Amino acid sequence: MLFKCLPPGGEIPGRFPGPVHARGKWFTIDIHCHVRSDKAAAMVEGNAAVSRWFLETAASEHSRAINARTANGRASRAPPRAADRGYGPDGIDIQAISPAPRQTYYGADPDLGHETSRAVNDFIAEICGRYPDRFVGLGTVPFQAPDLAIAELDRVRKSLGFRGIEIMTHVAGEDLSADRFRKIFARAEELGLVVFMHPDGFTEAARFVNHYFANVIGNPLDSTVALHHLIFGGVLRDYPNLKLVVAHGGGFLPAYSGRIDHAAAARPDCCEQLHRMPTTYLKRVYSTRSSTPITSSTISSTSMAPTTS
Ligand SMILES: [Zn+2]
Repeated sequence: MLFKCLPPGGEIPGRFPGPVHARGKWFTIDIHCHVRSDKAAAMVEGNAAVSRWFLETAASEHSRAINARTANGRASRAPPRAADRGYGPDGIDIQAISPAPRQTYYGADPDLGHETSRAVNDFIAEICGRYPDRFVGLGTVPFQAPDLAIAELDRVRKSLGFRGIEIMTHVAGEDLSADRFRKIFARAEELGLVVFMHPDGFTEAARFVNHYFANVIGNPLDSTVALHHLIFGGVLRDYPNLKLVVAHGGGFLPAYSGRIDHAAAARPDCCEQLHRMPTTYLKRVYSTRSSTPITSSTISSTSMAPTTS
């Protein structure tokens, strides 16, 4: 089953305004499109620690009820719409399909995390194999176990032919700049894989319970925090060719980027792992568009659909 954050009939702001040319000069790729694997979900069923979802743990009763209804509605949407309708109606030539964010299962123990990753990736590969001219895969790897993650990176690139992976904004609460994750970024860079970073609520969301703030504020805030760690923690310094795409407009940093350069210029404790001004690294990052246009030209923007997921 496959679902998108974009509501049915919603306008796609990044869409090329002219006619679709599936093999022509203008080629529109939708990179923000999730699929859910029933097989992987069954592997963690009843394991609350693994399937913990921050959008659920910080949500009002009303929000939980809506989440449940939304999940059911999404589950019934199949098959993928680009395959269902052909190229024309949505203006999309190719969809890069990625796991449902909560199916990255970074909280699982290494072996289970590896097994669920393989199940999700095989599921995505099966869809891409059925419609090879309409879908490309963005897989998942067990970040919590870096050596296994690297093995899965090699498999998704060399055996499954994926173009990238989706990663979360933290690894079960651990920041992506931790030393033990460096080798994963190194291999992703080496393999030329796109890294699509997507949030799943905010880890410290005690004040976000009402009004669906865990998503409305929490999702872009978690992307904001993660992007700061990747910059200030030296990950983007060490892997200059890493192809990083951040969901939802890149969080709040693109609209507030002057502050990071000011901080680095003012305080040495801000730039312990920086060789250049922080926005130098930010300029290498791409984002999908959010529900409001990006107002800063500091971050590169791909042409993507608005989302609230
Ligand atoms: Zn999403």
